[in-house]
Amino acid sequence: MKSIISFVIRYIPRKYLQLVSHFFLRILAIFYQGNTVTCNVCGHSFRKFLPYGRKARENALCPNCLALERHRLMWLFLQRETEFFSKPLRVLHIAPELCFIDRMKHLPNLDYITGDIESPLATVKMDVHQIPFEDNSFDVVFCNHVLEHVDDDIQACREINRVLKPGGWGIIQSPVYDLEKTLEDKSIIDPAERERLFGQRDHVRKYGKDYAVRLSLSGLKVEENNFVNTLDKGLNQKHALPENEVIFLCSKG
Ligand SMILES: [Zn+2]
Repeated sequence: MKSIISFVIRYIPRKYLQLVSHFFLRILAIFYQGNTVTCNVCGHSFRKFLPYGRKARENALCPNCLALERHRLMWLFLQRETEFFSKPLRVLHIAPELCFIDRMKHLPNLDYITGDIESPLATVKMDVHQIPFEDNSFDVVFCNHVLEHVDDDIQACREINRVLKPGGWGIIQSPVYDLEKTLEDKSIIDPAERERLFGQRDHVRKYGKDYAVRLSLSGLKVEENNFVNTLDKGLNQKHALPENEVIFLCSKG
């Protein structure tokens, strides 16, 4: 199972994978029946979650809604630390994750717009380097696991900062590694070399501990939020949350 998952993830981008895998995983869910873990995004319980990742992590992927550890953490953060589920908000969700789309779309307090350069899951076709919306037009922007793929991540953040309303906020997650400084070399275009250096065939950089500082060069204010460390261990295990994932909580600068 692990090796099949690793292979599929390696060669099929997640946004396409999400489209085709849904049905298959629901059948697989029958074999994961149980009550040990609960996905707090969709509310379904299982014996354990499915393994997921290039080097497959155990107990990661919800077979019902495809939420991963980081999605379950973000959902809990939104519930506990923000007014996302109650306040009228205009939301731009860039490269939207399948596990969130329907749930966010149906929240009556949200004016919810999804955008992506190529994802069939998004309604607006857009390039994050040049977001096709007016200045100050969104209360909230989500942009997760996008910046490691784009040519100019600072420009993308400049655009997010521009379209955020004063007082607006966002979550901008990317894989961050234990490196002092972000590794980037624009001359490397060979997918195999990118995989070796940046961790994946379609990644153009590998972020280090300077991630928040780097994003803030765009004008965004970036807070490293350690919400996950405030939760009790039982809850962490019940939802199989990531161990040390920092939430990069941004606001308009
Ligand atoms: Zn789920």
